[in-house]
Amino acid sequence: MSDHLKIAVLIVAAGSGSRAGAGVPKQYRALAGKPVIARCLQSITTALPTARIWVVISDDHHPLFHAATDGYSLAGIVAGGSTRQASVRHGLIAMKADPPDLVLVHDAARPFISPDVIQGLILAFDDQTIQAAAPGLEVVDTLKSIDGSGAATNGPSRKGLWRVQTPQAFRYPHILDAHMNTADSPDISDDLSVSQMQGGKSRIVPGHEAGFKITTSQDLEKAEQTVLNALGDIRIGSGFDVHGFHEGDHVMLCGVRIPHTHALEGHSDADVALHALTDAILGSIGAGDIGHHFPPSDAQWKGRSSDHFLRHAMALVAGRGGAVSNADVTIICEAPRVGPHSSTMTENVANILGISQDRVNIKATTTERLGFTGRREGIAAMATVSVRLPVL
Ligand code: MG
Repeated sequence: MSDHLKIAVLIVAAGSGSRAGAGVPKQYRALAGKPVIARCLQSITTALPTARIWVVISDDHHPLFHAATDGYSLAGIVAGGSTRQASVRHGLIAMKADPPDLVLVHDAARPFISPDVIQGLILAFDDQTIQAAAPGLEVVDTLKSIDGSGAATNGPSRKGLWRVQTPQAFRYPHILDAHMNTADSPDISDDLSVSQMQGGKSRIVPGHEAGFKITTSQDLEKAEQTVLNALGDIRIGSGFDVHGFHEGDHVMLCGVRIPHTHALEGHSDADVALHALTDAILGSIGAGDIGHHFPPSDAQWKGRSSDHFLRHAMALVAGRGGAVSNADVTIICEAPRVGPHSSTMTENVANILGISQDRVNIKATTTERLGFTGRREGIAAMATVSVRLPVL
């Protein structure tokens, strides 16, 4: 019965996600090399390969959205509203021209959707009287009310209480009608509430702990760890590089321009640290070295920013379905001083690797004035990375 239902998915991605920390909204943050929303789309297309997918986004997020979801085929992109409720309503209205039988409404901040949960939702509609279905988990912790001073008073009994997740599934005419007839309210945080306010008959199906919502930075870490844990083939790579000084007024180290008495000589921008890191990543997946991928004899790499080489190595890792777990870089020189720039370097590298900053370490040492770095003839860099690939 449910096999013949025409299914659409509406992903709500219009939020600004401020509780997960400053910077890019959480749905566009990289999660072990792939943005949260792309992981969400991947989960849905795996579970429902023929469903039409609509996404509601903020008007300000178009460049972020297109960069994050390149390659996914979508039925439409809809402009969000001032509340979550308005955003969902806009999305449902956009489907009117080609109405589905069922619509699954999902929050972009929940990247892991179990195929079993989706199957449970759809099967619930074998009962013709059901208009809404949502995945839920029984509350196991004790609930308390906390007052302004932090003191706990007794809360409601947990008995009979469930936590409800998304995706939530609805018969399309019902949920469209319910949204059109329900005034916006800050107290409405999901679509099952909208359905219930209009008398929709619902069923809760078994949810999954993996369907948690990314709200805080701690949730982002948990999600990143979830992705990495699923990749069981652990690789280590190492890289080493040296560039000599020549005339100039700055050096590039981990993508940061640092004023100096000399520049580093090289075919590209001579970012010795990114070259060592690129070699480490190539080494971890058995992909040779940077010179093999970008021959110095090739004029197109002249003066090229070295983040291009690192991004290429990362694309090879992503192409294998893998992710970098951590990176440790050592820059070896007497001068310039690296310390004042290390946090910017860490941020740069973490962005390119698509991992959180606590998985990236950039440090510097001197060689006690010994050898070529001690004589200030150039800079050396070493890098070690751990990369995780799927077990085949
Ligand atoms: Mg080099």
